[in-house]
Amino acid sequence: MKVTAQNLDGLAVARKVKLQVAERVRELAQPLGLAVVLLAADPASRTYAESKVRACREVGIRCEVHDWTHMTDAHEVYQNLCELSANQSLQAIMVEQPYPAFLDPVILYRCIPPEKDVEGISHENLGRLLLGRPIVVAATAAACMRLLDEYAVPMEGKRAVVVGRSNIVGKPLASLLMARNATVTICHRHTPNLAEETRRADILVVSVGQAHLIGPEHVKPGAVVIDVGINFVGGHMVGDVDTEGVRGVAGAITPVPGGVGPVTTALLLLNLVETAQRQLASAT
Ligand code: NDP
Repeated sequence: MKVTAQNLDGLAVARKVKLQVAERVRELAQPLGLAVVLLAADPASRTYAESKVRACREVGIRCEVHDWTHMTDAHEVYQNLCELSANQSLQAIMVEQPYPAFLDPVILYRCIPPEKDVEGISHENLGRLLLGRPIVVAATAAACMRLLDEYAVPMEGKRAVVVGRSNIVGKPLASLLMARNATVTICHRHTPNLAEETRRADILVVSVGQAHLIGPEHVKPGAVVIDVGINFVGGHMVGDVDTEGVRGVAGAITPVPGGVGPVTTALLLLNLVETAQRQLASAT
């Protein structure tokens, strides 16, 4: 009988997280503000920003989008970001991906103070995660873990393979999986035989940015597959995994759209509320 993988429904998980966030926003009873900065004239990036505005509205958080796509001078961007970060009416700042090539992401992250970093990508927050003492966890990596936890996927003693070693997804996720006692392998462009590695995975996470890189031949029967990738093919959003092909082999899989993306947005909002609570606590 042909296997059909279980759907790991990110929209359902995101709804649950947003209900928690809305409740905590009501309890806080003070205005909360998020600034989303757009740096690249990329239609996808604008779409992500708009989806954050909608998600914020649902839970009672003010979200302002700052369009800096006209800026071409790196120092101007860094300076503006530092100034925006100092704005007392904003509890959180984030920059939407992709970043233009003239910017150094490491300097960019430095301009956002760790206490306003809801993406968990500041030096301090990434460092704390590596040290096993996280405060704000990189939101996309946290979304992958949340999906695994919501569907009670066992991690301890399992073999996890992460394809992609970005600072904001692959590396923090490897740390989180290790902390849950999985045996972790990270693959990248220089991995000689990708399918050989990925076929060993009980849990396979793909964060590359290449449509349909992963097909059924890359997947161990029964594996749990988390597809982080967002690509646009013929105007349609697709992941890094050939979902339909892999469905016949995997035990469970996240769809794109409707998988990791909405959970990432919901966890950003949760990070924001927790950030605001810490800011309040330190002010009293
Ligand atoms: P990056 O774009 O920063 O890096 C891509 C990674 O993939 C690199 O490590 C690269 O290897 C690796 N890679 C590229 N091609 C191959 C290949 N053929 N075989 C194996 N590895 C390869 O990654 P991000 O993590 O920032 O983004 C990845 C994707 O996830 C994008 O589509 C992005 O839009 C999406 N994304 C989705 C989010 C969500 O919420 N759903 C949030 C964040 C990102 P090397 O290091 O050797 O160059």
